[in-house]
Amino acid sequence: MNSVANKVSSRGIARLELDGLSRSFGAYNALDGIDLAIEPGEFVALLGPSGCGKSTALNCIAGLLGLSGGEIRLGGSRIDQLEPERRGFGMVFQSYALFPHMSVRKNVGFGLTMQGIKGQEADKRISDALALVRLESQADKLPGQLSGGQQQRVAIARAIVIRPPVVLMDEPLSNLDAKLRLEMRAEIRGIHDQIGSTTIYVTHDQDEALSLADRIVVMSQGHIEQIGSPQDLYQRPINVGVADFMGFRTRVPGKVVSVSGEEAEIDVAGARITGTMRTPLKPGDAAILSVRPEDLVVADEGIAATVSSMEYRGRAFFGLARSDDGSDLYFRADDVLARGTPTRLKPIAGRALLFGDSAR
Ligand code: ATP
Repeated sequence: MNSVANKVSSRGIARLELDGLSRSFGAYNALDGIDLAIEPGEFVALLGPSGCGKSTALNCIAGLLGLSGGEIRLGGSRIDQLEPERRGFGMVFQSYALFPHMSVRKNVGFGLTMQGIKGQEADKRISDALALVRLESQADKLPGQLSGGQQQRVAIARAIVIRPPVVLMDEPLSNLDAKLRLEMRAEIRGIHDQIGSTTIYVTHDQDEALSLADRIVVMSQGHIEQIGSPQDLYQRPINVGVADFMGFRTRVPGKVVSVSGEEAEIDVAGARITGTMRTPLKPGDAAILSVRPEDLVVADEGIAATVSSMEYRGRAFFGLARSDDGSDLYFRADDVLARGTPTRLKPIAGRALLFGDSAR
């Protein structure tokens, strides 16, 4: 840890435990019994589609929303009845939530003032936090005089200056353009590594979760679908829903013909396709074939389909085709194919996954 990070780093980092975390709004269960233990210093991403309960979970952890059930413990002590200030967690929001009339320095120092930290100690902590996000030279500007990326760095400095045991981030990069998002992604992970706090990061962007997190928690409809390392989730999604969210866009129904070890051969609209079983299957079972667009390619033998549309994405063309039995197939091709062209599509060996039809 470098010296600036050392000065900003948190103290007393401890295990954060969510035990049966529930939150309802009227009759609707936005969070339905979330169990999760987050180790000190871990970077955990909560990933899932819009409305799955990610922000609700984060706001419950922060104390901005009360629980309908369950407990939150930090280092073994219950904190779910504490006011947000007493939990002392740093928060970074998508909207930055900076005070427009306060200088960068005052924005960053706000949390310290709330904690009664003043004078030289406050000045020093603010300078250290600004140095960590490389904004020392902007300290006297107003937020409106900064770029979006700089404003988000102010928000991060404000979150970490209080030396929080846990930093909570809710889609912090959503308002930035694509290039800046990539740069800030690397910065956020770098700051996390330097200060050593635990970070919980909400996103609906699988690339962001894959590149940032030590562990990814995939949520759907208020519950956890799967928890795993980025590699785990990328290669071994537990069901069709998680697979879809991790980029396996094509999902086609078929029937199992034969099984050998971890692989099965299925019949999809008259074509024989081999895939890795993610749920147990036997001959005759209905199955779903899941494959990523980059792994489904034009072949002599494969699923018969008609091209609907194609777009150029730099290294290759990506297209959508409709199979003869009406399924959408997202595929990759080296050359453009005209709309209406009949083609055959096949997964690259070892890249297709198979799920039982009930896992749909
Ligand atoms: P997004 O990525 O769109 O922010 P999310 O996964 O963070 O989505 P939440 O904001 O946690 O989702 O919302 C989960 C569900 O709870 C949604 O169906 C939402 O409509 C509902 N919800 C959230 N806040 C409230 C509220 N204050 N009152 C009523 N319903 C709410």
